[in-house]
Amino acid sequence: MKPISGDRIHVLNEHDIDTNGDFVLYWMIANRRIHYNPSLQHAISMSFELKKPLIVLEAISTRHQYASDRILTFMIQGMLENQQQFSAHDIRYIPWVSTPIQSGTGLLERISEKAAIVVTDLFPTYHPRKVVESAKKKVKVRFEAIDGNGYLPLSIGNKAFPTAHSFRRHLHDHFIQNWEDIPLENPIPTEHALSIPEEHYQEILSSSSIEPTPLEWIWRVCQGGTIGQTALAALEIDHSVSAVKSYEGGRSSALIRLARFMEDGLRRYHTDRNDLVRCAASGLSPWFHFGHLSTIEVIMQILKREDWDPNMIDPSRRGSRSGWWGLPEPVESFLDQIITWRELGFNFAHYREDHTSIESIPEWAKKSLKEHHQDPRQSYTFEQIENAETEDELWNAAQRQLMRVGIIHNYLRMVWGKRILEWAPNAETAADWMKYLNDKWALDGRDPNSYTGIFWVLGRHDRAWGPERPIFGKVRYMSSANTARKLKVDGYLNRWARDALHSNDYP
Ligand SMILES: Cc1cc2nc3c(=O)[nH]c(=O)nc-3n(C[C@H](O)[C@H](O)[C@H](O)COP(=O)(O)OP(=O)(O)OC[C@H]3O[C@@H](n4cnc5c(N)ncnc54)[C@H](O)[C@@H]3O)c2cc1C
Repeated sequence: MKPISGDRIHVLNEHDIDTNGDFVLYWMIANRRIHYNPSLQHAISMSFELKKPLIVLEAISTRHQYASDRILTFMIQGMLENQQQFSAHDIRYIPWVSTPIQSGTGLLERISEKAAIVVTDLFPTYHPRKVVESAKKKVKVRFEAIDGNGYLPLSIGNKAFPTAHSFRRHLHDHFIQNWEDIPLENPIPTEHALSIPEEHYQEILSSSSIEPTPLEWIWRVCQGGTIGQTALAALEIDHSVSAVKSYEGGRSSALIRLARFMEDGLRRYHTDRNDLVRCAASGLSPWFHFGHLSTIEVIMQILKREDWDPNMIDPSRRGSRSGWWGLPEPVESFLDQIITWRELGFNFAHYREDHTSIESIPEWAKKSLKEHHQDPRQSYTFEQIENAETEDELWNAAQRQLMRVGIIHNYLRMVWGKRILEWAPNAETAADWMKYLNDKWALDGRDPNSYTGIFWVLGRHDRAWGPERPIFGKVRYMSSANTARKLKVDGYLNRWARDALHSNDYP
């Protein structure tokens, strides 16, 4: 088994591997997949090295602020697919969703007592970051978190980068060094002895008081609609944020969307990404967020199709947005989003504890927003904003799209944030409102990119712009009126009109 790059391994405690332990435990909390999953690859490597079987425990917590029908349904759909895949490969897989009765307190502690080593996923924000932090003190054997977040391991960044330009230079300097080290497409070997005999497995479950979540219930949640709603009713989560029909969690749905993007969107990405009707964006962010699909898989698929090899690099373009790869414009433009912009945000979250706070925006932005703190503004209450009751119909449509299907069209996402800055009583409140609305309603919310986007609205990773404007100061200005002049908005306005059919379906 090929070892993963040491740069992806974060050792979380000082305990040794327990060579008397019965198994290797992979506690899956972010990279919820098999393919291009370095955590799974590492757990399998350890399992071979120690000659011990593997147990995969995929845990879904309902004990966090934004747990809702929408998020749970998507995650559980991915869980069902994982269950089928692991079972086909004869690997013990425990699907586990916390409930009011089985809250999860002490769960990891109990099962890890019999483990030789615990491997988990490193995710730099929100609940997964918090639970790993608190688990550090509880696991009494070697505990390692594996970074499967992006193409470049976070550890080689060493610091948070202030701009996309500085991150691009870092990417260009380290791309090749990681080219030979990318995680395996499928780390499960065809011939293996990773499974635990049934009797022993049942003994582990009962001594750790773990009851795997019943497959029948998982299956019902996956149906969505009223069947899914009824199944989820027993959970103490936000039932007002409903599941979305056509965004189905799991790798299979992600691959269908990816195939569509490769066929059509990618070749016109540079020109039509912002088109409200023929939008060329991939739409893959929810699957990336929940770890059902790795961005590495997408990057490799694209580079393979383009017949790319490192000899095509133009070193004179180091740090530039285009030209470095030696690839057509739409492809370079997409790679810049999926690697530079995405990994800039993951890197920032990893190195900055304050990445969800307004304190993390650059000094020039803080100063300028403060200078315009008292500027008169048209204010709306938070309720008016959340309920899409402003006088700006384009903005209302974007907010309704967010509430109904958990997504906002990419370009409008920026305008959505900029208008909240204009309407909230001050920049701090604007940040709080954006975080709350995005984390609550967006399928891809609670992600490092959520905070990249939200704080970009307030100047992070951006430069000062002129002319200086009321409220915004030197922070980049965007408005719905300009957007309506630039893009064709009629179809979008109709699709997300207040009285449009209240379908939570999205093509
Ligand atoms: C206010 C605001 C909030 C945002 N909240 C989120 C969020 O909660 N989750 C989220 O994933 N993204 C967020 N973004 C960034 C961006 O809008 C989305 O990543 C993108 O719209 C996702 O759609 P897609 O998958 O079709 O992207 P594509 O254009 O197909 O790009 C592919 C991938 O590249 C990455 N990417 C693309 N654009 C950006 C960007 N500007 N910044 C960082 N990564 C990018 C994403 O992982 C995306 O899935 C936010 C942006 C703003 C302005």
